[in-house]
Amino acid sequence: MEEYDNVVVTTGGYRGPAKAGHDETGDLFEGLDIEIVPPVPSLFTFNLPSSPVRDLMGTVVENASVSLAGTKFKAAGPLLITHWGMSGPAVLKLSSYAARYLAESRYDATLLVNWLGGKDLDSVRSGLQRTAVKNPLRQVSNSRPEEIPSRLWTYLVTKSKVREDARWAEIGPKGINRLAESLSNDSYHIKGQSRFKEEFVTCGGVALSNINNKTLECVKHPGLYFAGEVLDIDAITGGFNLQAAWSTGFLVADSISRKDNKD
Ligand SMILES: Cc1cc2nc3c(=O)[nH]c(=O)nc-3n(C[C@H](O)[C@H](O)[C@H](O)COP(=O)(O)OP(=O)(O)OC[C@H]3O[C@@H](n4cnc5c(N)ncnc54)[C@H](O)[C@@H]3O)c2cc1C
Repeated sequence: MEEYDNVVVTTGGYRGPAKAGHDETGDLFEGLDIEIVPPVPSLFTFNLPSSPVRDLMGTVVENASVSLAGTKFKAAGPLLITHWGMSGPAVLKLSSYAARYLAESRYDATLLVNWLGGKDLDSVRSGLQRTAVKNPLRQVSNSRPEEIPSRLWTYLVTKSKVREDARWAEIGPKGINRLAESLSNDSYHIKGQSRFKEEFVTCGGVALSNINNKTLECVKHPGLYFAGEVLDIDAITGGFNLQAAWSTGFLVADSISRKDNKD
């Protein structure tokens, strides 16, 4: 810092085993008294190691709603079943919102899936009851809600302890209740996230309290700037992380050029 008027740190997200500001070259911020929000991965997929749902890999539900049991974290959107668990925009968003909670829980949590985009249990139950009244002799496994792909419906029917060849008239209110639960409140045990380095973004980094948010200059060390993912800024998918890197880069360049023009 003594040899340069301005230094801009743009070292990006955290990918290594140490902590933000550390890389193979050591601690970039050593002795600078810069607060770091501990980095954890964000935008990852969920491993469901013991779940038979993985047999449905490749199945997509266009509008599922996902949440973490016992928390307020929830997200909605397309959900993809993979050979290791669940992925897709709904899951990636949830991993972003709950990145720190999941890291603290060591990626051991209960995922609740509403396969009908958040439709509540009572409406799902009423819908199933109407189907049962209209089609008493039809096989349950042959009359799926249109949002549910057929393989997933067969899986949910079996999971609800309804025989695949059972007719609507046979399953009674208890069977309908179990089906409604499976559709609106299906539960899975998350144990782990997708492999290290597959994550796209880091949650955490240089704390925003260290910087002037109008110039991105370090409050304690004038002339030191930060831009991009090294900052404690992260977002959901959709290009927002790239946009944050470009916007903060622009802001730093603009701040330095204004300062230089003043001198
Ligand atoms: C696989 C993948 C896919 C992604 N897809 C998307 C997407 O679709 N949309 C989106 O918005 N975001 C996406 N992201 C996130 C996005 O790429 C990052 O948020 C963005 O690139 C951050 O920009 P940055 O310049 O801050 O850091 P980076 O692009 O990570 O660049 C940092 C650079 O600094 C270098 N560096 C690190 N330490 C040092 C050092 N000590 N000395 C010198 N150089 C150093 C690194 O080698 C690297 O080249 C994706 C990320 C990954 C990994």
